[in-house]
Amino acid sequence: MWDKIIYLPVAIAVGLAMGSFYNVLIYRLPRKISLINPARSFCPVCHHQLAWKDNIPILSYIILRGKCRYCGTHISLRYPIVEGITASAFVTAIYLSQDPLQMISLWLLYSGAIVASAIDFEYMLIPDSAVVITAIGGVIWAVQSSHLLLSIETAAGAFALFLLIYLLSRGGMGFGDVEFFGALALFLTPFSAVFAILIASVVALIWAIPQLLSHKANKKTKVPFGPFLAIGTAVAMFLNFNTFMFKG
Ligand SMILES: [Zn+2]
Repeated sequence: MWDKIIYLPVAIAVGLAMGSFYNVLIYRLPRKISLINPARSFCPVCHHQLAWKDNIPILSYIILRGKCRYCGTHISLRYPIVEGITASAFVTAIYLSQDPLQMISLWLLYSGAIVASAIDFEYMLIPDSAVVITAIGGVIWAVQSSHLLLSIETAAGAFALFLLIYLLSRGGMGFGDVEFFGALALFLTPFSAVFAILIASVVALIWAIPQLLSHKANKKTKVPFGPFLAIGTAVAMFLNFNTFMFKG
């Protein structure tokens, strides 16, 4: 048993800092803005560079009452939400993990899932970097729980299945979903991968019902599948934690 309580402040601090960084990724990656130039964060409306005091996770949003200090433009609630979710996910990982290495693998999984989901919701695309972060976490996870072969087989199967759906759906599903679920499946067994797809499909359908019922929906209506695949994987993994699958 490892001393989980020591990691609690670490998880909160690293989670908030990384959440703040993921906000930068979520803004810059789909707009193809360099991550190092400009080095400092800026207001997307007035382009004023932000001071350190404008950049404190969650706190700055509350102090500034959700408005840019320089031009008064409303700041998206996405910023504090991503920071809060990342910190909460990092804390949850402590309690789900058997050792610090497994915790790190979950941190990577949650990081990839948060970045992929936020960008997919807005732009209907999943950046390669989010897939790579998820996959690195998956390999660490599989090595730590000593079923690397099973994980690779599950990932290959999931990738092949989604590739088939991708080819048959002719653009209905994005290739980013194929890569993303391949990476997520490293954390799953064949059985729990099927379960994850089931959960993802049900949640996606529930999410899409209001759109399908409204007159706005047509053949081009798309559902971002990435966030739902992440939710499905999270549920399947959580059930695995509570059964024999990963306990042996
Ligand atoms: Zn501004």
